[in-house]
Amino acid sequence: MNRPRRTQTLAKRRVALADPALQLAMLDALDLPGGDFEDQLRHSGHEGLRPGPFRVLQLNLGKLCNMACLHCHVDAGPDRIAQNMSTETAEACMQAIERLQPQTVDLTGGAPELNPNFRRIVAHCHRSGVQVIDRCNLSVLLLAKNADLIPFLAEHQVEVVASLPHPRPRNTDAQRGDGAFNRSIEALRRLNAAGYGTGDPSCRLTLVHNPAGAFLPASQAALEQDYKRVLDRDHGVSFDRLIALTNMPISRFLEWLDTSGNLEPYMRRLVSEFNPATLEGLMCRDTISVGWDGRVYDCDFNQMLNMTSAIARPHIADLDLPVWSAHAIRTARHCFGCTAGAGSSCAGATT
Ligand code: SF4
Ligand code: SF4
Repeated sequence: MNRPRRTQTLAKRRVALADPALQLAMLDALDLPGGDFEDQLRHSGHEGLRPGPFRVLQLNLGKLCNMACLHCHVDAGPDRIAQNMSTETAEACMQAIERLQPQTVDLTGGAPELNPNFRRIVAHCHRSGVQVIDRCNLSVLLLAKNADLIPFLAEHQVEVVASLPHPRPRNTDAQRGDGAFNRSIEALRRLNAAGYGTGDPSCRLTLVHNPAGAFLPASQAALEQDYKRVLDRDHGVSFDRLIALTNMPISRFLEWLDTSGNLEPYMRRLVSEFNPATLEGLMCRDTISVGWDGRVYDCDFNQMLNMTSAIARPHIADLDLPVWSAHAIRTARHCFGCTAGAGSSCAGATT
């Protein structure tokens, strides 16, 4: 089967598609019946998308990552050293946490643990009583410099949301590179030994599934059962819950869709499976997304497409909630990735 594989970043290969404007133009140029997202919203009784109650502050600490998966919507990789959150911006984010009082701070990247401010932000949130999510690629926990990271995460009651595309080695390695599955299992064993994934709500371990090709995820509940059975039986590891994400047609997954001849069929599938019931739970409605340079976006996907939030000063140092609550969320064709089938957000299916 034709599947995504490990690669190098678009930036390192200096390909034209590294430019987000070109990614948006490529999607816009497709012949997609029913493919105007705003029209679909109107037909479902919505005049655009508006924020609901604010809940999550998602901080993207940078594009630096120790891996280079082919489906990556961030174009993250080991060469993205410059695109990393500075201490000054991290300070502005910590001040914003006090000002905005999110329920949850969601740390993502790249590999957020590689940012030198990661532990300070986690400790700050813990002191302030704010729940933290670490979006973790698992292999980063095995790096020698991170030998004490798992106890740190447990001490600060951080939820680990860990990517494991598939419970069997072949499919995971196809997306993340040879040996990625075995490294993930070793990291899961270490997390289990520290109390993660054993039913303790203060050490919650969530796994993230995404499909290994140009199709939508299967039922999240069915996938969770399969992962639990296979990982326990074959590897003796456990986790608390699983979320299933749809691959977004941007960045490196967009490149793979295009070069494998899957782009138009995939987009047609996303459009044809548009599900209005997903709209209520879209993450752009309860989440503020902050980039490594402090700019504010409606979600991590808009962030990667350089679509800053439609507010006067879209920077975390200037943001206040009344302004955010009143603004219109920016959408484009990639949004069909969030609204197809059971829906997809950073918290998994939305229906
Ligand atoms: S681990 Fe995550 S951030 Fe890193 S390259 Fe893979 S998908 Fe991208
Ligand atoms: S990509 Fe998804 S989360 Fe982002 S603005 Fe579009 S619908 Fe909302």
